[in-house]
Amino acid sequence: MPYTYDDQNIFAKILRGEIPCTKVLETDHALAFTDISPKAPHHVLVIPKGPYVCHDHFALHATDAEIVDFTRAIGKVCAQLGVSPGTQGAGYRLISNAGTDGVQEVPHLHVHILAGRNIGPMVMAPS
Ligand code: 5GP
Repeated sequence: MPYTYDDQNIFAKILRGEIPCTKVLETDHALAFTDISPKAPHHVLVIPKGPYVCHDHFALHATDAEIVDFTRAIGKVCAQLGVSPGTQGAGYRLISNAGTDGVQEVPHLHVHILAGRNIGPMVMAPS
């Protein structure tokens, strides 16, 4: 089934300026802002400006310009935070949740950049 984008989701409202955010970076096709409930000393969300629900939706349907810009925006935020291992930063984790099993809360593609401490195991063991 094709994706249906809900333009009332919180990130769509942030993009329209209806809800404030703490902006980290803005490019032609992407916006980065701090997570409202940070799980690490650095917790930045990077979103495309286009109406994409999750990563596979974006990867298959976004334009090349959007994909390049979004990917580079993630790199720029890592550089801005000083966490890139290539410049002696301590590293980071990228997470992009999708759908029910991915436990995606907001149905607008976003990548979490988590850094500033050891982020721990990749996936929590089932309880
Ligand atoms: P998900 O579970 O969909 O991958 O993550 C959604 C993220 O959005 C969560 O980490 C949550 O804290 C964050 N979030 C939810 N509402 C807001 C908001 O209004 N502003 C900001 N900056 N982050 C939000």
